Amino acid sequence: MSDCLFCKIIAGEIPSDKVYEDENVFAFRDIHPQAPVHILVVPKTHIACAADITADNSAEVARCFEAIAKIAAQEGLNDGFRVINNCGENAGQTVFHLHFHILAGKTLGETLV
Ligand code: AMP
Ligand code: ZN
Repeated sequence: MSDCLFCKIIAGEIPSDKVYEDENVFAFRDIHPQAPVHILVVPKTHIACAADITADNSAEVARCFEAIAKIAAQEGLNDGFRVINNCGENAGQTVFHLHFHILAGKTLGETLV
């Protein structure tokens, strides 16, 4: 998608603080961190949001979660971490390229979720 911010980050057209990359997944630090560790994990394939996941593209989601486990080990998130996905307007999704937030580095509390 030529007008997608995260596609441009994956392509290197917009700089990012990359923490992980493999053939299918790209991960970088959120520009407005909401925890001491705040990393975005995105599939290289453009999927707009979780509502667009189907049997044809769900392997991309599995690859993201395989990457999340590797990133957690790489970043030493031994005390735990939270994974969040926002889908759609009411959830506050602002970038319409599927992404998973990894939040860690502090006690995250028991609200939301
Ligand atoms: P969401 O609200 O779930 O769509 O999350 C989008 C996230 O992308 C927000 O947490 C933003 O802070 C983050 N973000 C927006 N632009 C950039 C950027 N250029 N580099 C890194 N993170 C970004
Ligand atoms: Zn995209």
